[in-house]
Amino acid sequence: MLLEKIKLLMGAYYVKNPVMAQIDEIFKYITDDGKVISSELDKIQERFIEEQIEYFRKGYNYLSNTRKDIINMTSEDFNKVFDDMIVKFAEEFHIKNYIKPKIMIMKKFPYPFEDCDYKAMNFTTVQAEKFNIPKGIYLLEKYAIHGISEIMIAHEIMHFIVGEMTKENEQLNQAPFHEEGIVDFMSLYLLMKYHIVEDSCILNHLIFGRGNCNENYVGNIYFKESKQILWIAKNNGIEKVKDIIKTGQKGLANLSLLNYQRVEKNNKDEVLDKLISYYDFVFTNFSVDTNMYYIYNENLDIDDGKSLEDLNIPQNLSEEPQNVIARLEKIGLMYVLDGKIYNPNAKSIDTMKVRLVL
Ligand SMILES: [Zn+2]
Repeated sequence: MLLEKIKLLMGAYYVKNPVMAQIDEIFKYITDDGKVISSELDKIQERFIEEQIEYFRKGYNYLSNTRKDIINMTSEDFNKVFDDMIVKFAEEFHIKNYIKPKIMIMKKFPYPFEDCDYKAMNFTTVQAEKFNIPKGIYLLEKYAIHGISEIMIAHEIMHFIVGEMTKENEQLNQAPFHEEGIVDFMSLYLLMKYHIVEDSCILNHLIFGRGNCNENYVGNIYFKESKQILWIAKNNGIEKVKDIIKTGQKGLANLSLLNYQRVEKNNKDEVLDKLISYYDFVFTNFSVDTNMYYIYNENLDIDDGKSLEDLNIPQNLSEEPQNVIARLEKIGLMYVLDGKIYNPNAKSIDTMKVRLVL
């Protein structure tokens, strides 16, 4: 039986047009049975999280009504997904006669990674020897749910592929810079190409699992690395990205973006175009019009709550301020409680991207 909290997490991956909240932050304040831990929150934060929970619940209800088959994945279902995926990914890179990595679903990662805040990990031969643990892909049991797991497994399979492309004496015991980015990008591309999960999961994963999460969180770092790979993909097409993967860890360690500036004529690639649009959506999600832009920018400093009269509202708005604020609230940039206006993102302002669209 799925915990209420896991249902909510699962639902979050299926909602359309999610609020730009930091999902990991929100889940810190939700108990296993789906209740808000209110003792650590003030009234405004509590209501904000309650509203998010409602939102995630809608995603889960949608799923349980339309996709009953994917709610409770057994470990057999799981291994089937994994087996199909690795065959397809290996074919993409013309890898034959490989030893399929073992997949292990664990309550905790093996020592010394027990407390790591990752959803999955992969240990190549060299890494496994270094840490004296069995080689393979490790997945945390609590995240073994449809919509998230496939994304995690795909990422780890791509690490395995990079490993297969690396000569034994060139294997590194830590992934070189660019490996995480390229692995993340290519895994999403292949998940979309083979329709392994719904596109909403890919988009939501990019929004709150990568782009809009805490600046120091590993997902945010992967996102920044992926942006560089995205540039190569935009300029040179997906085949070039694959060629880079084929150079293995040594090639990735020596990758220079300067070699990929030339724009070549590409064949049409609808999957790549869609994935690029998802990455772009994350950067530019807060594209706002002039009215919103002025109210938002003039009033960033409102985490303590102000009434409409206290706000420094420009005189030249073409719309009632209340309506503008309501629209800002709808996209998660402002929050109104008991007539007071708050900024729900006050603490994460450095990771927010607000852009004026004229
Ligand atoms: Zn990784």
